[in-house]
Amino acid sequence: MTDLLIKSADLIGKGRTDVLVRDGRIAEVGSISAKGADTVDADGLVLLPGLVDLHTHLREPGREDAETVLTGTRAAAKGGYTAVCAMANSYPVADTAGVVEQVAALGRAAGYADVQPIGAVSVGLEGKRLAEIGAMAHSAAEVRMFSDDGHCVADPVLMRRALEYVKTFGGLIAQHAEEPRLTEGAQMNEGAVSAELGLPGWPSVAEEAIIARDVLLAEYTGARIHFCHVSTARSVDIIREAKARGAKVTAEVCPHHLLLTDEAARSYDPVYKVNPPLRREADVAVLRAALAEGVIDAVATDHAPHALQDKQCEWAAARPGMLGLETALSISVLALGGPAGVDWDLLAERTSRAPARIAGLEAHGRDPRPGVEANFTLVDPAATWTVVPEDLASLSRNTPYAGMELPVTVQATFLRGRATVLNGKIEEETTE
Ligand SMILES: [Zn+2]
Repeated sequence: MTDLLIKSADLIGKGRTDVLVRDGRIAEVGSISAKGADTVDADGLVLLPGLVDLHTHLREPGREDAETVLTGTRAAAKGGYTAVCAMANSYPVADTAGVVEQVAALGRAAGYADVQPIGAVSVGLEGKRLAEIGAMAHSAAEVRMFSDDGHCVADPVLMRRALEYVKTFGGLIAQHAEEPRLTEGAQMNEGAVSAELGLPGWPSVAEEAIIARDVLLAEYTGARIHFCHVSTARSVDIIREAKARGAKVTAEVCPHHLLLTDEAARSYDPVYKVNPPLRREADVAVLRAALAEGVIDAVATDHAPHALQDKQCEWAAARPGMLGLETALSISVLALGGPAGVDWDLLAERTSRAPARIAGLEAHGRDPRPGVEANFTLVDPAATWTVVPEDLASLSRNTPYAGMELPVTVQATFLRGRATVLNGKIEEETTE
């Protein structure tokens, strides 16, 4: 493999710097002249460690009409990601060593981003019996994170057992916090807008009650817990208090919860239907502040591709979920102060370093220095782009940002020194 020279990139904390990549790793950082190297002119571009997504629905196996590991990881690369954690709610469910190994192998074959499978907590996501957690942890996929996402692990006994189990090998549980009895039939956030529209409400306390319970269970067992898609102000309070006590708690927020509100439901456009639902303006403000402060550790996309027939129907029949991978960086920049005011070091922490640490992906979330794997992305902080659903790399089209002009473009993404995206376009050949 020819050496790669990134010329004059803006490195966090260093300013304009050259980066030399050899055999998939960073070889040198500084002022470099390298004859014979492939050179990428990065003048004016910010170099970020490759983004890491803790929460991606790749839909394969089982719903390849909505997304595949290949199309989902192409979307990831386009969004600046070098690693994604694949949620377990595929068909069949990723509740055995066989399925998680299949998902990991599909990721390697595609070559656009590292795919780290998340294992199910319970068999079939049914919340009754523990899945083969040990077998998945000791499989070739080396699963560390387990989640029934899409469903809450509602049974406290099952949650306690799961926490005790993952603690034995340093794993963690990622909880979709939703007390199911409180959200039966729910269609959107419970509040003034749902009352006006006459849609059944999803009360914020359904999330907060489970987060409070699981913080206590995590403290009682001494295990690690991670909260998926935190969406309410009161959830942030509970997590802040838990962290202050030293509980092993981490949390993520989704881009759509940092930008959109339940007012969007007035359109009755199912593209805005998501679980947990879009909340109030006051929640958005608290979530943004919590992300900046670090009470919320990471941005995670909850990228949820859906086939047209599952979204282009009436609100009540539509499946919840939105695309996220190709727009998350831009929305994160907006939420953290806009392109002129964003702190790139903080952005790198919340979108790359922290999620890599939480997932245990040691080769990702690393700032460039000699010896580390060359997983990084080059972004243009001054550019803007307009979201055109037909142009997205995802197989699905359910983006809530269609037609919006967003800040910051991904110019190039490198996975172990190989370009997966170059000049803003996906590279078609990813194998060496
Ligand atoms: Zn979820």
